[in-house]
Amino acid sequence: MKLAVLPGDGIGPEIVAQAVKVLDALKSDGAKIEMETAPIGGAGYDAAGDPLPAATLALARAADAVLLGAVGGPQYDALDRPLRPERGLLRIRKELNLFANLRPALLYPELAGASSLKSEVVSGLDLMIVRELTGDVYFGQPRGIEVRNGERVGFNTMLYSESEVRRVAHVAFGIAMKRGKKLCSVEKANVLECSELWKEVMIEVAKDYPEVALSHMYVDNAAMQLIRAPKQFDTIVTGNLFGDILSDAASMLSGSIGMLPSASLDERNKGMYEPIHGSAPDIAGRNLANPLATILSVAMMYRYTFADLATADRIENAVKKVIAQGLRTGDIWTEGARKVSCSEMGDAVVAALAR
Ligand code: NAD
Repeated sequence: MKLAVLPGDGIGPEIVAQAVKVLDALKSDGAKIEMETAPIGGAGYDAAGDPLPAATLALARAADAVLLGAVGGPQYDALDRPLRPERGLLRIRKELNLFANLRPALLYPELAGASSLKSEVVSGLDLMIVRELTGDVYFGQPRGIEVRNGERVGFNTMLYSESEVRRVAHVAFGIAMKRGKKLCSVEKANVLECSELWKEVMIEVAKDYPEVALSHMYVDNAAMQLIRAPKQFDTIVTGNLFGDILSDAASMLSGSIGMLPSASLDERNKGMYEPIHGSAPDIAGRNLANPLATILSVAMMYRYTFADLATADRIENAVKKVIAQGLRTGDIWTEGARKVSCSEMGDAVVAALAR
């Protein structure tokens, strides 16, 4: 398996180094993985004047999977928009046609106290959000800022074709089939035509999955329900914009953004795997970041791209073990637990992998 490793900016290199330790440990157990590292985001701009250098994109195209840290930082905020780190990320998702973003929100029982919600509301939470990733208002044309009637107006276009909705619907129904067979499609069909089409296509695709119970919810209600009673959901499918916001809200249910991995898949299950959080410039370079979201992203890579469920389980169990041992980075630390650094957490997961 060829893996492109793109650490990025801020805490990216620190957390990716821990995931690479885990991969190295699997390699020494016989796993056949080749890893090659390349810059992206601000690091791409620094190295080649482009947040997605051509060589990085070529490496990612040639790889079976991509492991990404995070991009962005205040030093890049003044760059022209196309040169900003986040553009590199949007471009690689689009170039690799990674249209289905899978974001699990799972609460480890020991971390119930780290959630900002009452533990009875969140304990046992096991939710999967499937977010469409290459369409919607982030990519729709026309877009821009221009002067109309003597003042500036900003505009974007919310747009989905039925084929874009259909392919993400199939991914979501497929995942719901392997989970609790309950899929909730989230949109805003009461006011948006784009959502009306989304809902119609979901209903059409549902005919291929008679075992899955499909429900529909407006995004404003979904935001409320996620906080009120998140365990009512099993799998959620939604568009790019709504999914961006809802999945960050869902991340807080599980205690810390530092615990949550993600996968972004193309039609053939090639994927890019990354933690859902950003580059955390406030703690970068201090060995404080939680590497578990990145390590759990490696587990997702084994599950979805390499279809090696045993190794995926092995990594996830190692993470469960270190959590059960009471090891905590600062973001998930509570009274009585042992506070560890980013690299100590990585070492502990490697030790817990041992058979
Ligand atoms: P962020 O996710 O980087 O940080 C939000 C808060 O969570 C910060 O207090 C941070 O310290 C904390 N945090 C995040 N990850 C953590 C981890 N692994 N361990 C411990 N604490 C963690 O979001 P932000 O502050 O809004 O953005 C910072 C930069 O990251 C910006 O430049 C933004 O554009 C970029 N960003 C990148 C991505 C990505 O690469 N996928 C996603 C979101 C934001």
